[in-house]
Amino acid sequence: MLTYGANTLTPTSALKPMITFWNSVLRWATGCFRATNRKVLWAEANTPPLDLYLHYLKCKYAIRILRASPLGNPVTGRTSPSFQTISTHRTYSHTQLLKGLPNPPKKWNSTAIKGVAHLPIELLASLLLPLIEGGIAPARMNLHAKTQLLINWQHFYPPPEYYPHPLSTTPLPFNDLHKFIATRIHQFRSGKSYLRAQKTWMTAHLSSKCERCNAAEETPEHAILHCPALAPNRHGPLQTITSLNDIWNDQNLTIALGAFIAVTKVGYPRSAPPSPLATGSTTMSTLTSIPTTSSSYPLAGPIPAIYAS
Ligand SMILES: [Zn+2]
Repeated sequence: MLTYGANTLTPTSALKPMITFWNSVLRWATGCFRATNRKVLWAEANTPPLDLYLHYLKCKYAIRILRASPLGNPVTGRTSPSFQTISTHRTYSHTQLLKGLPNPPKKWNSTAIKGVAHLPIELLASLLLPLIEGGIAPARMNLHAKTQLLINWQHFYPPPEYYPHPLSTTPLPFNDLHKFIATRIHQFRSGKSYLRAQKTWMTAHLSSKCERCNAAEETPEHAILHCPALAPNRHGPLQTITSLNDIWNDQNLTIALGAFIAVTKVGYPRSAPPSPLATGSTTMSTLTSIPTTSSSYPLAGPIPAIYAS
């Protein structure tokens, strides 16, 4: 619904709130925290940033419309005669025909105007120009547009170094698990979770040590693969793998991981002492305790002579 009509209409001032809404939906779908980096969120949701996605929709629309027959599609029929289509037929403007004036379409390779709200046919044609000049076969243009989307994504919004997973628009097998379990895994991969070593702003003051074994930091690798306290719950393939990266594309390992998380409650929300950031209690008590030493100086009272004169 959010992108309805976006292949012909370009949002200008509305784009920013649309991106905010887009990110909120992705946070709901993946369970990622507000503390999660936006670039990580998009990668984890297998969903490109909205501005790049809208451009991709326009490219796909341009391919579909301008590869159609000018006899069957009036938009295609309004392209410039110099633009190569399936046939040379062109449709002229009814208004101009009533006046007895020819009204040939504008040049198809004219540049787009920044901020324009409605896509002119020329812009659609200019979107197709790089593909035509690159010699891309019409049947492969959609695939090329998708590849270009991923290239643009990596170029303009590369995920930070701590997020090692490749950019893709294909969901991983763990998305088939129960949503609550799948969101635990999304959180582990994004680097912000309820595990003690994956801190957010609200848990930065807590220890990183695993509370089950108290031997190492509670990272996803430790909790899922190494924590001795959880060893009895590791069954089958989970006992043999050495890296979490072995799991993501493997259906059986994904199911085993889902069962492990459900039994051990690794990464589940926990009740923690409130952060000073959340309550402000520590900060406020420090601030309010300072004036007690200077409380002998009343703030209210007669104006000192230096100011009254
Ligand atoms: Zn442990």
